[in-house]
Amino acid sequence: MIKTAAVVGAGITGCTIARALADKGIMVTVFERDLAIGGLCRDGYEHHGIFIHHYGPHIFHNNDPCVQYFLSRFTQWLPYRHHVVAAIEHGHAHVPIPINRVTMSMLSASWSEEQAHILLYSEYGRKMWGGHYGAVRDQVERRVPARVGNDCSYFGDCWWQGFPLTGWTTMMRRMLDADNIALELCEVTGKTLRDEKGWDIVFWTGRPEPLLDWGLGPLAYRTMDFTFQVGRGNIRPPYPVINYPLRPPDYIRATDYRQLTGQPHELWVIGYETPRECGATNGRPTHVVPSRENHELWQRYAAAVTDEHPHVRLVGRFAECRYLDISESVANALAKVDEILA
Ligand SMILES: Cc1cc2nc3c(=O)[nH]c(=O)nc-3n(C[C@H](O)[C@H](O)[C@H](O)COP(=O)(O)OP(=O)(O)OC[C@H]3O[C@@H](n4cnc5c(N)ncnc54)[C@H](O)[C@@H]3O)c2cc1C
Repeated sequence: MIKTAAVVGAGITGCTIARALADKGIMVTVFERDLAIGGLCRDGYEHHGIFIHHYGPHIFHNNDPCVQYFLSRFTQWLPYRHHVVAAIEHGHAHVPIPINRVTMSMLSASWSEEQAHILLYSEYGRKMWGGHYGAVRDQVERRVPARVGNDCSYFGDCWWQGFPLTGWTTMMRRMLDADNIALELCEVTGKTLRDEKGWDIVFWTGRPEPLLDWGLGPLAYRTMDFTFQVGRGNIRPPYPVINYPLRPPDYIRATDYRQLTGQPHELWVIGYETPRECGATNGRPTHVVPSRENHELWQRYAAAVTDEHPHVRLVGRFAECRYLDISESVANALAKVDEILA
């Protein structure tokens, strides 16, 4: 019977696991190597008191009632319907993504759908995935929803879209607010787990390589530089979030946080996301490279982790080396806990 558990990582996966375990009376210790909880979903007041998302705009979109019910214990919601637009013609025109009838009607009549595809998906993909693009193209383009009509909402099929009313970090802080959850801000390594045997089970939500002292080499990830520009006055881009498929600029998205969140503030802040390669030490992974080669290396890691750390479970976007959005991360975390406690 499981009485004690460690959760490595206080992102949405770790916070969900911790709370689901705590709800069952298990003593949980959560370890987070950042100075704050939240992982990639982290948000808060920065830059003269404007509310931003530290790692790019994080919009909740969900169709799973269990996920909605679970998260709604810790937050109310601010509705927001997301539209993705891509800047073309040097930023003078913005067309909706995924490509639909409206997109084609905005591009000049000489554009075929195939040319639009190359401009809006392939060029974007090359910028996002760099040298990996050829190996991941099919995988990533399959994730773009297909459209034939006039619906310009990006997550058109999701019945719930929005943000936690007071932010992701506040929501996650409430998730960890239980008598049987302790939070320690420190990094956990494979050595920590070999030396410390006090937990019946460990849920690991970060990249798996440190668990095995990087013995099989690094997995491939992309990362992003997140930079912010702050100013005063009436700057208001035509959309809260704009994609830039073409170079220049080097950044791939720009977000006007004042507009995105609807917050009244005399300053504006625009966040930029610039993708680049992520090695073992030069950046925080934001995207697992979904190539076959990477998946095979991850499978070797997963098998070796089972051998060396039998009480460790790999859970989440990086630990499982697969694309998971927030809703999927929560559903996956709840399912993994149910599986263990069954
Ligand atoms: C730019 C960008 C935009 C996105 N936008 C959206 C969106 O709009 N909607 C959506 O649904 N999803 C979005 N996502 C996806 C979303 O960020 C992820 O689904 C979610 O954050 C995954 O959470 P996680 O807890 O699995 O991982 P993380 O958020 O990475 O959390 C893992 C945590 O573990 C900690 N950690 C790792 N290793 C260790 C260690 N050894 N010791 C201690 N702590 C450790 C890390 O510091 C981190 O806090 C976006 C992702 C990116 C990169």
